[in-house]
Parts: sequence; structure tokens; C-alpha cells
Amino acid sequence: MKIELSDRLKSLPPYLFVEIDRAKKKARSQGRDIIDLGVGDPDIPTPKYIIDALHRSSLKAENHRYALDEGLHALKEEIAKWYKTRFGVRLDAKDEILPLIGSKEGIAHIPLAFVNVGDIVLVPEPCYPPYKSGTILAGGIPHVMPLKAENGFLPDLKVIQQDVLKKSKLLFINYPNNPTGATCEPDFFDDVIRIASRNNIIVCHDAAYTELSFDGYKAPSFLERNGAKDVGIEFHSFSKTFNMTGWRLGFACGNASILQGLAKVKSNMDSGVFTAIQWAGVEALKFVDKTLAGFRTIYEERRDILVEGLNKSGWKIDKPKATFYVWAPTLKGHTSVSFTNLFLDKADIVVTPGNGFGAAGEGYIRMALTVDKNRLKEAVERIKKVI
Ligand SMILES: *Cc1c(COP(=O)(O)O)cnc(C)c1O
Repeated sequence: MKIELSDRLKSLPPYLFVEIDRAKKKARSQGRDIIDLGVGDPDIPTPKYIIDALHRSSLKAENHRYALDEGLHALKEEIAKWYKTRFGVRLDAKDEILPLIGSKEGIAHIPLAFVNVGDIVLVPEPCYPPYKSGTILAGGIPHVMPLKAENGFLPDLKVIQQDVLKKSKLLFINYPNNPTGATCEPDFFDDVIRIASRNNIIVCHDAAYTELSFDGYKAPSFLERNGAKDVGIEFHSFSKTFNMTGWRLGFACGNASILQGLAKVKSNMDSGVFTAIQWAGVEALKFVDKTLAGFRTIYEERRDILVEGLNKSGWKIDKPKATFYVWAPTLKGHTSVSFTNLFLDKADIVVTPGNGFGAAGEGYIRMALTVDKNRLKEAVERIKKVI
């Protein structure tokens, strides 16, 4: 029998990271000592108090059954409490918070709730791939908003054509930003709210990195701004905040009607997050400040080792105020891919080519601060020799 993929699946952009993974595995199998700055997956383990909470909850039979579709109330209450103290944002735990099986799940599913075939979704580029793939799988058309260095890696909303805005159903933004490490001022959100409410566009702010910030910088929530809750929702994740990428726990919060749409998609596709994991999330949030202080110090030190080390060799890389990514322009006329290959072939270092996040990322590479400081020092020495 001939097995043929659907047109939807065929029309997804190629997943460049698969190639890099293959090259990395090959190099490792040859016994080379590879330093992997490619993946955005924390090397630091989940804190023990969270693992202990999972263990305790996992022993209770009541947690072994299907979870409620709408999520564990205790978790939603704890999230509401945290949003109030952290951002000054009031959320109704009952209908303004929706737990997710990792925020990627909600991000990829939300177009199914609001996008009809041929509708436009505004996506930044370079970007986290699910904004585009979720759009395409729902039959929508991604319209790229390029993020350029000269605009501080913010999209230029003024240049989006009226007819594009008229056909747009959703708009994705993400600050602090993956892959550029850029942050935004709160008044950028006001511009987004204005354009969204004028054109009936639902705003999806991906806030996965608000808690990973340095030098005393505190990232704002989209929902802090006047009118935000009328037009949008925010996606949050336990993955990066608590080093829990494998656990699959995130949430969306904000506009209740938008969340209802997402919940309706989900109720047809999944049956919620394992309740014991949601209880571990409750415990995680209770000690968020103490937990984060330690992680921030670690990433800040790593960032300084890498960026200051490489800048000594004449490279001009900006220090990110948030996220664990360093977004660096390529040198000597290299493309993203040729620079990435140079690092792997000559320095045994894996980085991610910027164009893997969309064509607008060409001319950059991304390095993730997810190896310890001694390995980073070694990486700096190796890189200096080949650039
Ligand atoms: C890592 C990441 C997420 C989080 O994904 P989870 O599914 O919650 O693990 C979301 N958005 C961006 C931009 C990310 O880099």
C-alpha cells in the first residue's frame, strides 16, 4: 500500500533541527567530545521539593484517574495567587486559567479554535516553530512579522498592510524572546492591544521566559496592560522556570472566551494533565522566588562567560537581559548554516543556525546556555581558534 502524508503535513516547513541532530549524533559516534549549545533544554535537574511533591501525589489513588478537562482547581488558585503577586494581574481561577500539557500543546492547538481555512495568523520571525506549524495544520496562513536588530527585535506593527490585518485572526508575540533573547517594554504591548482591538485579532503572548531574567530586570506580563484581557491570552510554562521540560506542564490565562475555545479543542483531543503533576506544580509555585534566585545566578554567570569571552576576540554579541539564549551575528560572510557547520566540524560545538527559526533568522546563530560553566569556558577557547 502506498502511504501518503496529508497535504497539511507536507506543507509544514522542513524541520532543520533534525539535520543538526543527525550531524551531532554522527560526531558523537566518532568519539568526538561535542559541546552541545544547540538545544534549549535546561541541564539543571528539577528541584527536589517538586519531585518529592510528585512522589507524594502519585501515591494517591484519586490522582490515578482521568484529570478534569478544566484542570485542577488548586493549581489554578495557586497560579492566580502568583499572577497577583508577580505581575499585579487579577485572574479568576475558575475561567481565566487553563492548565496545558506543556505550553507548546496550547500554542499548537489554539489556531484550531479560531482560524478558518485561508485566514491569516501574524507570526514573528525568527520564532518558536509551533506558531507557524499550528497555523498551517489548522489551514491558516502564517504572515511573517520580521524581527530586526534595528528595531530591538520587536515587530514593526505599522508596516502590516490593512488587507492583511483584516484577514488576521491571531497574532503571536513572545517576550522575553526565543531565539533572540530580546525583551520588550510594557508600552509595546499597548501598541499590540490597539491594533488587535481595532482589527478583531486575538493576541497570544508566549511568556515562557518571563522568570529567566538577569541584572535585576523583571519582564512584564502582557496581561498587566489595560485592555489586554479583552483581546488576548498569555501562555506560560513550568518548563523553563523550574527545569521541568520533560514533565509537560504549562497553562494559558487571560480572556475567558478565548480560553473556552482552546478548552473545547483540547476536550476533543486530550484528557488533561496527570493530576499528580498538577499537584507538583502547586508546590513548585509556592517557592518560586527562592527556586529562581539560584537558577538566575547560574545562567547569568554562564552568559557572562560566553558573551564576554567571545567579545574579547572582536565578535560583537549583545548580552541578553533574559532567556538562556545568546543570539549572535555570523562572521566573515558566513550564512547561518555555514557558520554552524564550521563550529561543528572545526570546534566540535553544536549551535543552532538562525534560519532554523525562519528565513528572517538568517545571518545569526543561537547558542543555549545549557551546559555548565567549565564547558562554556572550554567552548569559548575552541570557538576563538576557529573564527
Ligand atoms: C520552551 C518554550 C516553550 C515551552 O514549551 P513547553 O511546551 O511548555 O515545554 C514555549 N515557548 C517558547 C518560545 C519556548 O522556547
